[in-house]
Amino acid sequence: MSTQTEARRKSADMSNVVLSVRDLKKWYPIRKGLFSRVVAQVKAVDGVSFDIHAGETLGFVGESGCGKTTVGRTILRLLDPVTAGSAHFQGTNLFDIQGEELRAMRRKMQIIFQDPYSSLNPRMTVEAIVGEGLTVHGLVSSGKERRERVQELLKKVGLDPVRHISRYPHEFSGGQRQRIGVARAIALEPDLIVCDEAVSALDVSIQAQIINLLQGLQEEMGMSYLFIAHGLNVVEHISHRVAVMYLGRIAETAPSEKLYSGPAHPYTQALLSAIPDTDPDAPMNPEVLEGEVPNPINPPPGCRFHPRCRFAQDRCRSNDIPIPVYEIAPGHSVACILGEQVAGAVKIGEQTGA
Ligand code: SF4
Repeated sequence: MSTQTEARRKSADMSNVVLSVRDLKKWYPIRKGLFSRVVAQVKAVDGVSFDIHAGETLGFVGESGCGKTTVGRTILRLLDPVTAGSAHFQGTNLFDIQGEELRAMRRKMQIIFQDPYSSLNPRMTVEAIVGEGLTVHGLVSSGKERRERVQELLKKVGLDPVRHISRYPHEFSGGQRQRIGVARAIALEPDLIVCDEAVSALDVSIQAQIINLLQGLQEEMGMSYLFIAHGLNVVEHISHRVAVMYLGRIAETAPSEKLYSGPAHPYTQALLSAIPDTDPDAPMNPEVLEGEVPNPINPPPGCRFHPRCRFAQDRCRSNDIPIPVYEIAPGHSVACILGEQVAGAVKIGEQTGA
C-alpha cells in the first residue's frame, strides 16, 4: 500500500457515523395463480447491518446476485418498499421519510452507475447532464452561473471545461463518460456517494484512473463512499474497510489491510486466492469454489455458504443452530463458526437459518 493511499485512508473520521444500516431486508415476492398469491420470496438482501463514517470508503464485495447492488439502491430509496430494517443517514431513518424531506435528503446522497454508456441521456449535452441537479435544487440563479459551475466541475474531474461542455455523451470514451457521471454525482456536494460497480465496465488502466479520481475528490471534499464491486482486487486501494457479501448476508467485515492480510471467512479466503498476483513468476494456487451459488429463493439451511465450504461441519448445515458472528479483532467480524478458534474472539451476534 502506498504512503499516499495510507494517508488518504487515515482521513476518514471513524468517530462520526454518517450512515447506519441495521438488519436490512429486501425480499421480492413471487406470485402465481389467478389471485397472484405469494408462493415464495427472493431474499435478495436478508439481514444486513453496517456503518459508514465521515470521509470513509466502505468496499462492498460479492459475486453477481449476492445482493450488494440491491443494498445500495434500497438505501437510496430507488427500490421501494424495503421489507424490513432501518437506514439512518445523519440521524434520519431514510425509510420513514417522503416528499420534500426525501427530496432534500437525496441531494446529500448520490449514485454513480456501472454503465457510463446507458446512464447518461444521449440527447443531453454535458452541461445539461451535470447541471441538471443544480437547477432542480435551485442552487444556481442563472444560466451563466450554472455554466460556470459546470465548468468548475468538469475541471475537477479532469475534463476540458471549454471544449467538452457542449458535447454529447457519444462523443466521449468510456472513461470520459464515467468522469461525466462523477461530475454529476459531486455537483450537489453530497455527503455520501454510492458507487454502484462504477468501474466494473472499464478497462483496468481506466479503472485505476477513475479510482484515483474518486480518492482525490474524497480527500478534497470529504464525502463517504459505498463502493460496490464484484472483485476484491477492485476495492483494495480505495476502501478503508471492506464488507464481503454472500447470498444476501455479510460474511465478513474488516479494515482493508486486515481483510487482505488475514481473511477469516472461507468465502473471503477463496475470493482472495483467485486474485492474480502482479508478479508473473509468483505461484498461483486459486482455491476453486465447489458448486454453484445457491438460489436465493431457496437458500441452503444453516450457513448459506456450507454447500461450497471445505470446512463445513454438521452444525453448519442446520437451521436449528444459528451461525455465530464473532468480532475477532477490533472492527473485524466474521459470520462463521471458525471465529471461535481465534484467541480473544467475542460473539457479537448470530445469523439465523433460511
Ligand atoms: Fe464454512 Fe461452517 Fe464457517 Fe459456514 S459456518 S463458512 S459452512 S465453516
